[in-house]
Amino acid sequence: MEERKTVLVTGGARGIGKEVANLYAENGYDVIINYVSDKTDVEGIKKEFEEKNVKCLLVKADVSKEEEVTNLVNKAIEEFGKIDVLVNNAGITKDNLLMRMSQEEFDRVIEINLKGTFLVTKSVIKYMMKKRQGSIINLASVVGVVGNSGQCNYSASKAGIIGFTKSVAKELASRNIRANAVAPGFIETDMTNVLKEEVKENIYNQIPLKRMGNAREVAELIYFLGSEKSSYITGQVINVDGGMVM
Ligand code: NAP
Repeated sequence: MEERKTVLVTGGARGIGKEVANLYAENGYDVIINYVSDKTDVEGIKKEFEEKNVKCLLVKADVSKEEEVTNLVNKAIEEFGKIDVLVNNAGITKDNLLMRMSQEEFDRVIEINLKGTFLVTKSVIKYMMKKRQGSIINLASVVGVVGNSGQCNYSASKAGIIGFTKSVAKELASRNIRANAVAPGFIETDMTNVLKEEVKENIYNQIPLKRMGNAREVAELIYFLGSEKSSYITGQVINVDGGMVM
């Protein structure tokens, strides 16, 4: 019988992360879901997965805090013994024009999005290296490539993730560990629900497919990059954006 595989999804209780966890679960993976908010309905999510006969471990941890990340990865290893796929999905925005942006707004976005990706990846690769196998998928954004007014902190964090991903891909290729970045455009989640209708209309006009994407459309690419079907792809940034950035 083929060995069961394990995926760790940071920020996996909502939005794109939840859809990623669902898709891996549907494909027979054991799933570790990280979350941070007290509002997360841990029991509800556990029940949802148990109903699908999926082993699911939920671990609360702030990805920007090293001790909490160590605890997250230790718990995952205690439960499943390995992590085959890591999806660094946790992320926040704190938008403001540069003129008005506080240091706190800048630092927090960098800490969670970029440093969080570094901390979780550093902690997980020890176990991937032992197995000489693994796939890491980092959530970037098209604004990390083209920039966006009002998002200098967020765009910098996502551009940082792209550089980080390419370096990790080069460092770990000899250990059969791949690293790729997925760059979504505008996807319907809590993150974009806060935008005003007129802002959304303006965005649709910049998207050749004339609509926002949904979390499933991003999850499908992330699933492909975690699977053996993408075994010759590493160090890449792949957009899921309805053609917004070409
Ligand atoms: P979302 O609905 O706002 O969800 C964000 C997730 O990140 C939540 O699960 C949240 O956990 C988690 N999170 C936030 N801070 C955290 C921390 N300190 N430690 C651990 N987890 C933390 O966002 P989304 O739209 O699904 O976005 C997911 C990823 O895709 C992000 O990296 C985002 O930058 C990227 N992305 C999204 C879009 C888009 O249009 N939606 C576009 C480009 C890129 P809790 O549930 O516990 O609060």
